[in-house]
Amino acid sequence: MSDVVLDMSGIARIYGKGAQALTVLQDAAFSMSRGELVALVAPSGAGKSTLLHLAGLLERPDAGALKIGGVECGALNDDKRTQMRRTQIGFVYQFHHLLPELNARENIALPLVIAGATSQEADKRANTLLGHLGILPRATHRPSELSGGEQQRVAIARAVANQPKLLLADEPTGNLDPATSDLVFEALTQLVRSTGLAALIATHNHELAAQMDRTVTIADNKVVVA
Ligand code: ADP
Repeated sequence: MSDVVLDMSGIARIYGKGAQALTVLQDAAFSMSRGELVALVAPSGAGKSTLLHLAGLLERPDAGALKIGGVECGALNDDKRTQMRRTQIGFVYQFHHLLPELNARENIALPLVIAGATSQEADKRANTLLGHLGILPRATHRPSELSGGEQQRVAIARAVANQPKLLLADEPTGNLDPATSDLVFEALTQLVRSTGLAALIATHNHELAAQMDRTVTIADNKVVVA
């Protein structure tokens, strides 16, 4: 089996038409392998979110090929793309987007139950993840009863609950103080290393970026080594 998790080539993304057209990506290529932790560092407006949305199958490219786990996603209909997103891709955002009425364990278990797990199986997996991320004692706390760093660790656990191949994160520590940011990043790193996930993490934090396997940026509408 190939180790390539994400493979993008000849990708174009152009917003708008005619004189108003804004080219964000043109003939861009990018790929990631299992277990790779890649930082995406680029100025605001360069196209980081666009790249994450394309890789996450939330947007379709205007041209090019995009494969996840060897499957060409351009040819898939919306239902198949949704299925792919649910089973192969995890998302973490700057703000946790946890459901306020559910506790930490329930927030993590929810995507598992949606994917067909029994509540017992889902709780077991949620507990394992809470343990890996060092927040098992917080299992029954609701988001409002958790610190920012704990909330973000729950959001990470939820993103990987269904054992996706690809984790996409948009400024996952952008809302945290430096010490908490380091803790959350360390938890994220350990998770990537222990599961063989490929993770693409947009960040403005150069110190965190330097700890990843490589850093890419977006320049001249292409994804290039930073
Ligand atoms: P970043 O995440 O690096 O800040 P984005 O990917 O959000 O950059 O945006 C790249 C460029 O594309 C920006 O100039 C932004 O204004 C533009 N853009 C993003 N989404 C849209 C959209 N849906 N329609 C038109 N322009 C967009």
